[in-house]
Amino acid sequence: MVPYRHYTKSAPHPQSGGPKPLGEHLSRVLTGVGPKRSRQLALLGIETPQDILYHFPRDWQDRSAGTDLSKPPVGPVVFQCRVLSSRLIRTNPRLGIFRARVATGDRKVDVLWFKHLSFRYDVFATLKKDITPGADLWIVGRAEGDLLGVREVRAEEYYLMTDPRRSLHVGRIVPLYHLTEGISQHLMRELTHQAVAAGIASLREPLPPALLHKRGLLSLPQTLSAVHFPRSFAELEAARTRLAYEEFLLLEFAWIFKRRQTRGLAKNFTYEVKRHLLTPFREALGFELTRAQKRVINEIFDDMRRPYPMTRLLQGDVGSGKTVVALSALLLAVENGCQGAFMVPTEILADQHMVTLSQFLKGLPVRCAMLTSRLSKRERDRTIEAVRRGEVAILVGTHALLESDVSFPRLRLAVIDEQHRFGVRQRTTLRQKSALLDLLVMTATPIPRTLALALYGDLDVSTLDEMPPNKSTAQTFHRSEGEALAAVKAEVAKGHQAYIVYPIIEESANLDLQSAKAEYARLRAGELAGLRVALIHGAMPGRTKAKIMAEFGKKLWDVLVATPVIEVGIDVPNATVMVVQNADRFGMASLHQLRGRIGRGPYASTCCLVADPKTDDARLRIETLVATYDGFRIGEEDLKIRGPGEFMGTAQHGELTLKIADLFRHAGLLRQARQDAEEVLQGDPRLLAAENQPLRERLLSLYKEKWNCIDLA
Ligand code: ADP
Ligand code: MG
Repeated sequence: MVPYRHYTKSAPHPQSGGPKPLGEHLSRVLTGVGPKRSRQLALLGIETPQDILYHFPRDWQDRSAGTDLSKPPVGPVVFQCRVLSSRLIRTNPRLGIFRARVATGDRKVDVLWFKHLSFRYDVFATLKKDITPGADLWIVGRAEGDLLGVREVRAEEYYLMTDPRRSLHVGRIVPLYHLTEGISQHLMRELTHQAVAAGIASLREPLPPALLHKRGLLSLPQTLSAVHFPRSFAELEAARTRLAYEEFLLLEFAWIFKRRQTRGLAKNFTYEVKRHLLTPFREALGFELTRAQKRVINEIFDDMRRPYPMTRLLQGDVGSGKTVVALSALLLAVENGCQGAFMVPTEILADQHMVTLSQFLKGLPVRCAMLTSRLSKRERDRTIEAVRRGEVAILVGTHALLESDVSFPRLRLAVIDEQHRFGVRQRTTLRQKSALLDLLVMTATPIPRTLALALYGDLDVSTLDEMPPNKSTAQTFHRSEGEALAAVKAEVAKGHQAYIVYPIIEESANLDLQSAKAEYARLRAGELAGLRVALIHGAMPGRTKAKIMAEFGKKLWDVLVATPVIEVGIDVPNATVMVVQNADRFGMASLHQLRGRIGRGPYASTCCLVADPKTDDARLRIETLVATYDGFRIGEEDLKIRGPGEFMGTAQHGELTLKIADLFRHAGLLRQARQDAEEVLQGDPRLLAAENQPLRERLLSLYKEKWNCIDLA
């Protein structure tokens, strides 16, 4: 059976109120739909025959040939048979069982129907009439049996060979739908078939004929007919390809129009590269920028000097040197008398960036300040006031930056670090603070290119694909706790430092925290006695966390027992070992981030994953991390293991309005769609040509409301 992950039943279909009779109410067009069924179907979002056509199957079942009943039963069975005998058995006053002994091939099987009895009528009347000795029929049901094959089948559907409608339900590939109470698969198939017959040919084709031809795609009537009632799996695949292509094409159009809209905005400001800050900054760095860093800085500077606002995503694996790039952009803003905001997901990271910034900017006339929720009211007021007066050039902080009383008179550039930790919502809030802001979002969780295109279609993407030299990447191993702690002691003996990380997941945060604390006590009293061991966790007051991190940076502690609060951004080059306890409880991206905390200096570093993986997926995750340090590959593997829906989060996925298209399986189609969308718009920039009208209407009906940004005027 074909897996069918991306079904969302609430996504709107195109052309509501389309050609009659498809746009009329169901009850007027189809037989068998009265007021009660109308209400039930409405729960599935189905009110017209057209709605039914766009209520795509969630899966398909191959009933073209019968199931081999001589094998141990698995899942549903379908077979043809002849009735030998049948009778009603009453087990109790409420329940009746109708049992038929049937022959199929040279096998004899019992088929059972269970029904609640009624005082008013005979619930078994139809069965008694149909299932008589000698009758030939198809049975669909669930089987029981053993190694010797199927012995008993609980019937779900049956079709007499004399029934001409059976060809819709058996002896073919049948669709399986999402259902609601009172609506059976059988009924949905019947109704869908009627809807197909009612006028599929009159549906308006949204795709321009030239594209259908170019990509060799099925027409819309062929597609809808085949997606519900495919004559072969090849035909089904062709239908899904066409639908996926269509979804991608519309998505690409939507992104292009959104981009156009941003690009239509005028910043009314031009940056000049003056270099009185950038040059001394570069000279004091103490290292050469990598080629990738130089390239990306140029891309960003070019963006900033364009007349419309920048919206750029900077992807770079952990340790690829994104901070320096961000700082260069911020300095360009400051050189031009503007302010910049540097937003990070955690307070620890805000602290860390403050330290880094003051090191890099030592001696330069650039005032930086920090705003987090940890400041006292007086400190906060003072900082906000200095920002408001324009005295602060670069403000570093958590989402506290977004609070409404923080106002920057000359804010021109916002950098969001570790953007994957923020939602799309925060990105939008920043945009709303000033639509004309230059926006740079950075992520260390590289996403495969296809996903980036689909997810961030409105962003320009830069990639740091080169690591700074003289960095040792951490070697990763799957180790026992004993081995891992031995590695910790060996490195500490050489004057290095170590992290020991415990998982904390939301669902069991309290318990997890308690066990991390208990482990800390146990290690300090036992295995690591004699070492200087500190504990840091997310529930601590911000001040305490900052103090411990600062002390760790000054080598006052040998070992830091930590929760994943250290996951992002922490940079202590002397730390050379990381032990991740219960590593199987972390996601791959988190583990990759975590181990990015070590190997930040010139010393060889080791990451020990201590885990007893219970599932194949968990084992595969650990093995992948041991095998590769390439963040992009890890992203791809993660995607394969988890599937794109989960990878992206359902909310984001919903925003994309994809019912059929699978970003992973159909990556090639996405590329084609993007290319085609661009080509179409080259010839007809506003989709005004007659042949593009259906496309234009469909695009508006899908995205206009949802994104509140698609404007074809
Ligand atoms: P990330 O991309 O993970 O945010 P950072 O910006 O924290 O990476 O950089 C990691 C470390 O590499 C920092 O200590 C930084 O100072 C250093 N670094 C950055 N660029 C270079 C370079 N071109 N050469 C050497 N070291 C560099
Ligand atoms: Mg960073």
